[in-house]
Amino acid sequence: MSLDPDWGDGTRCVHAGETAPSKGSPLTPGPVLAAPFHLADARPDTDAGLAEEADFYGRAGNPTWRRLESAIGELDGGECVLFPSGMAAISALLRDASGRGALVLPSDGYYATRAFAESELVPRGVTVRAVPTAGPWDDDVFDGAALVLLETPSNPGLDVCDIAELSARAHTAGAVVAVDNTTASPLGQRPLALGADVVVASDAKALSGHSDLLLGHVSTADAALARRLREARTLGGAIPGPFEAWLAYRSLSTLDLRLARQAENAAALTAALRDHPAVRGLRWPGSAGDAAHETARRQMRRFGGVLSFELADEATFSRFVAASRLVVEATSFGGVHSTVDRRARWGDPVAPGFVRFSSGCEDAADLVADVLAALDSCVR
Ligand SMILES: *Cc1c(COP(=O)(O)O)cnc(C)c1O
Repeated sequence: MSLDPDWGDGTRCVHAGETAPSKGSPLTPGPVLAAPFHLADARPDTDAGLAEEADFYGRAGNPTWRRLESAIGELDGGECVLFPSGMAAISALLRDASGRGALVLPSDGYYATRAFAESELVPRGVTVRAVPTAGPWDDDVFDGAALVLLETPSNPGLDVCDIAELSARAHTAGAVVAVDNTTASPLGQRPLALGADVVVASDAKALSGHSDLLLGHVSTADAALARRLREARTLGGAIPGPFEAWLAYRSLSTLDLRLARQAENAAALTAALRDHPAVRGLRWPGSAGDAAHETARRQMRRFGGVLSFELADEATFSRFVAASRLVVEATSFGGVHSTVDRRARWGDPVAPGFVRFSSGCEDAADLVADVLAALDSCVR
């Protein structure tokens, strides 16, 4: 069953990846856990030929992966290839491009993407250029580039770049454009419709949203790229767990509800924290005064639940976390619990008191009251 393009996000999330109903089959099928599948009735054939007509071995294919791939692909507007983590998806994409030219990466994006390129690709002769998400984007950045990876909004700084404009410029120079869409999610932003060629994402964040699994994916309209990535996954052998894929499929049906509550909470927190004496440098792309807002408003369909701000220092951050009853310290984001992460702990190029705040699905009034009380205790 394919999604009606006129349906709203809630309907799309509930029905994404569904197959035609058949009598006696479960409304929501459980996970298929299999290493080998029965080969009965299979024609003697090559593995590759067999894979296209039926499952034969769990490293090459699994029905539960395919259900999640078709759901995410429908929401992204491309063909989805599932990976066991966001980094597995990103590294597969960068490896695929690395024989064909330079790689352009965000200098302020997810740190492991840069670390992978530095440790695995640069020593093999690949040229890597790092550009801040907010620019400047000089023309010569694109010269000889095979792949331009944008990350918008960037993690953790929440800067935004113009996907349509940069895609057009990169295409003129012959480069493929990928967007790390982790922070936005497929409901927050559709990079393929904006002109990018590829979406990559960690599905451990808002997409699955319950802080209980890691997965990642690539979506693209480029069928040859999707095929190469599937082959690399089968031969590389690092494959997603079917149980995780099933959990993520189950979680995807509430993505619209979760994102709506998280964005409502982010908006309420942004309004409440704006003039708080303990808070500086408050960022949320949905905020009218934010440096990223104009571009975000043009290309994002919703702004998500992640905001960021600075407290005075590490000790103030610790006091804030100790005083809060609802906000817990954890890395990652996009889950139903509100969490904070002091990114300098991981070596991100940010101030020691920089906080990435992931709004959860608590009630806005409870969350705002708790956060304000905890911040008040920091300035007393
Ligand atoms: C978390 C994250 C990743 C990496 O994903 P994993 O699932 O942890 O491997 C990549 N990009 C962004 C923007 C992320 O937030």
